[in-house]
Amino acid sequence: MPIASVVLDIPTRSLESTYAYLIPEVLEDKVEVGATVLVSFGRRPAVGYVVKRSREPDASLDASKLREIDDVLAPSAFDEVSATLAMWIAREYACPAIAAVRLFLPPGSLPKARKGEDGTWELTSRHLGKLENRWVRLSQSAGGFTPRADAYRQRDLMDALSKGPLRLSELKAILPGVASTLRSLAKRGVVEVFEGEPELVRPEATTLGSAEAPLPERLTRGQMRALATVSRALGRGDGSVVLVDGVTGSGKTEVYLEAIDAALELGRGAIVLVPEISLTPQTLGRFRSRFGDEVALMHSRLTPAERRQQWMAVRSGKARVVVGARSALFCPVGNLGLVVIDEEHEFTYKQEQAPRYHARDVAAKLVQLRGASLVLGSATPSLESLKRCQDGGFLGVAWERVRMGERATGALLPSVTLVDLRGTHTEGSSAFSPELADALRETHHAGEKSVLLINRRGFSPFLICEDCGCVPECPHCSNSLTYHARTRELVCHTCGSIWPLKPWPDPTSLCPNCGSRYLRAPGVGTERVEDEVRLLLGDAEVIRMDADTTSGQGAHQRLLERFDATPGAVLVGTQMIAKGLDFPEVTLVGVVNADTSLKLPDFRAAERTFDLLEQVTGRAGRGAKPGRVIIQSYWSTHPAVACVASKDRDAFVESELALRREAHYPPYVRLANLTVSGADEKRVKATVSELARRLRDAARRQRWQVVGPAECLRAKIRDRHRHHVIVKAPLGASLGESLFELSKGLGGSGISLAIDVDAYEVL
Ligand code: ADP
Ligand code: ZN
Ligand code: ZN
Repeated sequence: MPIASVVLDIPTRSLESTYAYLIPEVLEDKVEVGATVLVSFGRRPAVGYVVKRSREPDASLDASKLREIDDVLAPSAFDEVSATLAMWIAREYACPAIAAVRLFLPPGSLPKARKGEDGTWELTSRHLGKLENRWVRLSQSAGGFTPRADAYRQRDLMDALSKGPLRLSELKAILPGVASTLRSLAKRGVVEVFEGEPELVRPEATTLGSAEAPLPERLTRGQMRALATVSRALGRGDGSVVLVDGVTGSGKTEVYLEAIDAALELGRGAIVLVPEISLTPQTLGRFRSRFGDEVALMHSRLTPAERRQQWMAVRSGKARVVVGARSALFCPVGNLGLVVIDEEHEFTYKQEQAPRYHARDVAAKLVQLRGASLVLGSATPSLESLKRCQDGGFLGVAWERVRMGERATGALLPSVTLVDLRGTHTEGSSAFSPELADALRETHHAGEKSVLLINRRGFSPFLICEDCGCVPECPHCSNSLTYHARTRELVCHTCGSIWPLKPWPDPTSLCPNCGSRYLRAPGVGTERVEDEVRLLLGDAEVIRMDADTTSGQGAHQRLLERFDATPGAVLVGTQMIAKGLDFPEVTLVGVVNADTSLKLPDFRAAERTFDLLEQVTGRAGRGAKPGRVIIQSYWSTHPAVACVASKDRDAFVESELALRREAHYPPYVRLANLTVSGADEKRVKATVSELARRLRDAARRQRWQVVGPAECLRAKIRDRHRHHVIVKAPLGASLGESLFELSKGLGGSGISLAIDVDAYEVL
């Protein structure tokens, strides 16, 4: 009798927990790879997923002991290649197979075997809400309508729709709060909402090299080179990787669109990953205008029912292009030819909960298994990708880099000036150097806009006692409390606890340590910068964007609208303003404190800082007028700062790679972070010690290096103590599998162990 290997949806402590079941004759045709099945496990029923079919049991199994599959609950959701990839993810990232298999299932459809009140087992599955299939398009009369200058959201919407109709659910997902804009534009007859399938006209298909490629008129030389490289890779179909290393505005999206076109011409499908922040109506509009109805959107803000609908469109072959966040990688695209990862350096491509996979590495494996190609794009590629290109390849696969050094529109890159802050500080001095203050005044008086970045990663404004030097900390988490001057509160940004700090003579305003009244707020926060800009520019519209001002629904969008609408406005914010903003009137970008993020004990601190400064630099001078950037820093000799000013990324990359090689850090080794946490610190310590002992033991046999155990920098989060051990292993080592085996049986109730292979969050 034929045999199915089944991954069961049961709590398990083993990695590749597949179980063999016999396939009874009645189910012969239905038990395919990817099918959901019902089986008995011990004395209970269990739901499982078929990952392999064989003609007969292999010699190690005693067929007479095997049980039969009881039923097939759902048809195949994934094929053998996906099953192979799922098992690879489980091994690579040390997670149970079921967690990896779940990635490939249609959204919102996990059936569970549950014990009913009468003791019998029943199957439950989540109820999915009603689906609507409404679309939005510009109406015939829309041509005569011009949005008011301040109607950022109207303009956004009309821009996106100018390229063709969009699904209502998609618009709502990527443009929070769009509903009211839609209503008012619909009332004025500018847009219309309609039911059902739209007639989406795909512009006539173009072949590569055709003289009349649709928008734009002509590709730049860089774009042509990039495309030629991608189409060679497509032709080889050997899983090779092309890194499109192009400055902001060099037209990378156009390269992706043309490459996808080429893949579709070959009858192959495509997956495009974009970071959440770049999933704007414009981005979607550009894809829809090229590929019409063939584009599916996979996004966490769609409802489960909507995501399921999109997934089904892909499964049926109706949609051959998927655009979305990380999870789009697991959509069942037929005959996959191309995967594109935009902004490939973004750390959000690393999933921080199990399965802790990195989308770039999973994509590289995926295209290899499918004989497809991977295109990575960025203005600041990751050191991992740059090194792989330098080496000419990685683990037997070719990696190739194409540079695009100029903006496609011909706009100039902004000039960058560095201001050394050392020795300039005096009591009560301003957050702005004379250079930055002058530039702010000039820009404002010219009616142009400025963006001010407060680099706050890892640091927030806190209070310090002038008498004893103590900094109030959260009693539940090991971080200092953030001081909010407006509300006079101390807030823990980890667990959300709040301590009101009433003005003197209220006794609670005293130092918790020595009772002193002299609690002072050092450092620069967004609120202080906001105040200083007002002081400097008087009547200017100052908009502050940080975690506090953007927490409400649609708040983000409203603040941007205000910025857009007001000539001479200044936008003050944290890293959230560094990316994606495209306002042509911004001619000045100021970085108030470039180097705060350099001091974090994280080996990627320099890379993160460089990326942030480069990205924020790209916000200046996107329109007709050239832009300028002023970067203030106490550490202006550090390559992460200096090389942004000298526009010499190669120098930064070279120095940073040298440091990483010296200190044995990625991309020269694989690094795994194993964190033990729990409320009982004694047990946490005992567990992490035992874990470290086992790892050291294993390290003698493998070429590993074990660092720790040690208390995490964030030693306590929500009253759970955290200790960790770090393991470094040679590139290509099968680290996940070994770590999973080694940590078996550790911990127990109340103690959790997180294995993070290729870790990005090491604090
Ligand atoms: P990137 O993603 O590299 O930052 P985009 O793809 O967003 O850049 O392109 C920047 C701008 O240049 C867009 O407005 C785009 O329409 C325009 N553009 C792209 N390619 C060309 C081209 N070949 N000729 C003229 N403009 C172009
Ligand atoms: Zn004190
Ligand atoms: Zn806390």
